Amino acid sequence: MATLYIIGTPIGNLEDITLRALRILKEVDCILCEDTRTTKKLLSKYSIGTPTLSYHAHSGETKIEKISELLHGGKNLALVTDAGTPAIADPGGELVSALRNMMGESLLVIAIPGPNAAIAALSISGFRTSDFLFLGFLPHKKGRETLFKEIAASKRTVVFYESPHRILKTLSSLARVLPPSKKVGIARELTKIHEQFISGDAGEVEKYFLENTEKVRGEFVVIIG
Ligand code: SAM
Repeated sequence: MATLYIIGTPIGNLEDITLRALRILKEVDCILCEDTRTTKKLLSKYSIGTPTLSYHAHSGETKIEKISELLHGGKNLALVTDAGTPAIADPGGELVSALRNMMGESLLVIAIPGPNAAIAALSISGFRTSDFLFLGFLPHKKGRETLFKEIAASKRTVVFYESPHRILKTLSSLARVLPPSKKVGIARELTKIHEQFISGDAGEVEKYFLENTEKVRGEFVVIIG
């Protein structure tokens, strides 16, 4: 049966990969990558020579058809993205959905679990993690203000991804809508050399980044307690 393995890969530190992931990456016929250059760094560290094929946010239907033909032809494929668990706030989700729709029961989709930035951030936060609301990336324009109000009113811990270009804008909006009793945590560059976690009320965290602009770079997870 055609098999697509959804493989979690590191979010920074290349040692964060499971033995099973490495074995499957070696065994499959082809690895679908968000950016083949990024994945090749991982593959070369572990001496894996499996062929790669790119699948990214702009790949389109023709690429999905090509992938489904490979699977129909009996090839086993692995899907990886640039960081973490494919399909969680990255292009992998659309591919899995399209292939499941096209191939139904004739496709086996197998999870090979690994790192995820939101879960790693929650795990070190000390915030309540028994239940939480994951928002992926916030919209840039439409619905953004409404969402901030929903976050302020939420009884659950809220977690989302943010880019270095928008983090200050987002912190300023949070400082405007959140009551000071709500804590904000920022996990930056998890598993990398400049890994950092800071928390406080939204105004304090905003002030920290305004005063330390050299820290407004890298990758961010935002948590609201
Ligand atoms: N699928 C990935 C996962 O499982 O976490 C997420 C992909 S999403 C396109 C990329 C976003 O995840 C980044 O913009 C950042 O917000 C977050 N992220 C990825 N790696 C991170 C890291 N090492 N530290 C903090 N956040 C990270």
